[in-house]
Amino acid sequence: MSSGVVLSRAGAAYRVHVDGREVTATLRGTLKHRDDDRVVVGDVVELHLETAESGAITGIRERKSVLARRAAGTGAARAQPIAANVDQVLVVTAARDPEPAPRMIDRFFVIAEANELPAFLVVNKIELDREAGPALAARYAAAGYPVLLTSVKAPEGLEALAASLTGRETVLAGQSGVGKSSLLNALEPGLKLRIGAISQKWRTGRHTTTAAELVPLAAGGYVVDTPGMREVGAWGIEPADLDACFPEFRPFLGTCRFDDCRHLNEPACAVRAEAGRAFPADRLVSYERLYEELNVPSWSSGRRRGS
Ligand code: GDP
Ligand code: ZN
Repeated sequence: MSSGVVLSRAGAAYRVHVDGREVTATLRGTLKHRDDDRVVVGDVVELHLETAESGAITGIRERKSVLARRAAGTGAARAQPIAANVDQVLVVTAARDPEPAPRMIDRFFVIAEANELPAFLVVNKIELDREAGPALAARYAAAGYPVLLTSVKAPEGLEALAASLTGRETVLAGQSGVGKSSLLNALEPGLKLRIGAISQKWRTGRHTTTAAELVPLAAGGYVVDTPGMREVGAWGIEPADLDACFPEFRPFLGTCRFDDCRHLNEPACAVRAEAGRAFPADRLVSYERLYEELNVPSWSSGRRRGS
């Protein structure tokens, strides 16, 4: 009996990473019928090897975390798992070209929080603008998100980035063109990510739904290659749960005058009172925008894909 990590799935066949090799496996017997917790990328599975390259999946280990798409629909919102055993979310932005998009960065952090995953920020292309990195670090200091400054061109900060990826399963998020593929290629030449290619399709409006895939790192660990986290989306998060997805708001939650305070325009709101003091006021603006977006009837939420 061996164990391995599921890298990808094509129909009934799973690619499984076993002792540094890749094995193609199918689900055995009773597992086939349990589609409620179907095997997803990142799952640690037990295998019965039939040849050096093929085998049968005989068991699935308990997941320590799940990145899920929370489908907002009729009835109980059902979370659809995208990747299992994710350790962290890495949000990548550029110091310039393209300009940092704080709304989008905040949205990715909210998705990480909703999935109870630690997150950190990489500001890439810092050789183009030395001010942007420290400004973003200041923005996220109260929330507690670590910020790494990198440049593929310079190069700078690449060892620190490598250290934070090694041995962990990391979901990569960030708008197209910020340098996600370049960073990973700088760490490990030849690493083929689809993120860039898929962003291209998004731009031309072709909505290709591609399943997530795990890319093993030579130094140990995996990068979850998913077509941007757009696919995951923030919709499906209950508006009432959004405040807790801003870590720097947490000390003040429960101290507003109203128990069900939405922190929008209620009197004596403790969160609003701290905007510009305990945390940057613009984080509250992100909260308001996301609240508005999540607070639409579920029948229309599937179309609210903009950022
Ligand atoms: P992705 O869409 O996030 O994967 O971004 P890419 O890796 O495709 O990079 C987009 C563009 O930014 C490419 O032309 C890269 O050469 C460039 N780029 C990546 N990193 C840096 C950097 O540190 N500095 C500068 N000036 N350009 C970079
Ligand atoms: Zn409030």
